[in-house]
Amino acid sequence: MALIKCRECNKEMSGNAKSCPHCGNPNQPETIESTGKKWKGMQLWAILIGVAGIILFVKSDHENTVSAFMIFGGAIGFVLGKVGAWWYHR
Ligand SMILES: [Zn+2]
Repeated sequence: MALIKCRECNKEMSGNAKSCPHCGNPNQPETIESTGKKWKGMQLWAILIGVAGIILFVKSDHENTVSAFMIFGGAIGFVLGKVGAWWYHR
């Protein structure tokens, strides 16, 4: 259990605490926000991989298995990113 500094009053508090025991500033929102960003980043990468796969697919006269896997992987990653962002957004 790590001690962190409160963003409002700069006093030490437990990282697991829902709010600061000194000033009552909530600790949770920042965690949820950064989690959301992580999942959004995953969606972004999934889109990039999927688009790169489509470009590769078109350029290789539709005979590239790797590009098909990239499109497939990109689609899976995008759905996982969506589900993850939804699941942790509480
Ligand atoms: Zn505080």
